[in-house]
Amino acid sequence: MSPLAERTLNLKPSPTLTLDAEVKAMKARGRKIVNLGVGEPDFETPDFIKEAAVKAVRDGFTRYTPSEGILELREAVCEKFSRDNGLEYGPEEIVVTCGGKHALYEAMQALFDPGDEVIVPAPYWVTYPPQVRLAGATPVAVATDAAGGYVLTPEALERALTPRTKGIIINSPSNPTGMVYTRAELAALAPLIESRGLWVISDDIYESLTYDGREFANMPMACPELKPRTVICHGVSKTYSMTGWRIGFLAAPREVASTVARIQSQMTSNPCSIAQKAALAAITGPGEPAERMREAFAVRRRLILDLLEGIPGFSTPVPAGAFYVFPDATGLFGRKLAGRTADSSDALASILLTECEVATVPGSGFGTEGAIRFSYAASENEITEGLGRIARLAAASW
Ligand SMILES: *Cc1c(COP(=O)(O)O)cnc(C)c1O
Repeated sequence: MSPLAERTLNLKPSPTLTLDAEVKAMKARGRKIVNLGVGEPDFETPDFIKEAAVKAVRDGFTRYTPSEGILELREAVCEKFSRDNGLEYGPEEIVVTCGGKHALYEAMQALFDPGDEVIVPAPYWVTYPPQVRLAGATPVAVATDAAGGYVLTPEALERALTPRTKGIIINSPSNPTGMVYTRAELAALAPLIESRGLWVISDDIYESLTYDGREFANMPMACPELKPRTVICHGVSKTYSMTGWRIGFLAAPREVASTVARIQSQMTSNPCSIAQKAALAAITGPGEPAERMREAFAVRRRLILDLLEGIPGFSTPVPAGAFYVFPDATGLFGRKLAGRTADSSDALASILLTECEVATVPGSGFGTEGAIRFSYAASENEITEGLGRIARLAAASW
């Protein structure tokens, strides 16, 4: 057989999706796994959104749409940015995509070339480095730490810059840490980004999920001069519990948006017509269902933080957003846990899965050894049960 394309040779499947598939298979075989691994809201998509999709089918809205997405939805997205973020975009600066992940992929295809370097603050979402590589560019991970609130500082950014640096990816609220950048922290990065002429990819997918009154901000909100160099990637998956519908969107300067639309026209033609109508209903409809989900996440966040605090060996920064906690677990390394000894986050996650039947994601996948990610997009009962099992395992090791 002829060899496959070089860019696929080191391409691994998403570790979080792979883990989730394994957990679902174990559950199907009757194992009572508590799944704190998956980053997916467990709520149903609100009924009024489902109804809009049913209506689209009944109305025969079942054909190709414009590649960049239907005008009504792009206009609704403009209104969302104006209302929620004070950012003014025209519909020609918006592209509707097949999910937020696809918006990120297409943005990178539009912006980066082989030889370019792209700054990816770590811990990072598992998908950024492979997507940078698929564009032929090189991801440059820049470590941030719990003590610094996982915030990228201008000093750390400056040390990582080279003449080849072309862009930076910023994700706030963050997956996996749940940290949220303040306006001031973003503004502190702006002069370097501006003077080096970098592109900013702002992954705002968790915008609606902040807690304790924390305000959301992205780079163009903190620093309007950077709006012409920013691509905001966003979507309906996390806000409206619509992960399976596959609708995302991006906002970018006109030239970037039209380039992304050309890529999309050759790649997928357009996102699903029916799902676009559902997303339109979600964005223009009543905000209460999404707010009720946020409130449920807020309660679960308190619960998991309280339970983690009671388990010696974990040290957990308090996250202000998303639905993850990312405790440092090195306090458990080297201890006997059910006859095994963890010396890495991979080993610890494996012990938790086999001995406690609790799924988590090791920090290694996010570029940060020593921590593990718990998702609290699970019911309060599951969180209590899962953390209870881990507490008993840890207690036996002391
Ligand atoms: C879930 C997620 C996305 C996008 O999800 P889609 O389902 O593709 O819309 C993007 N970025 C991060 C950090 C995520 O966790």
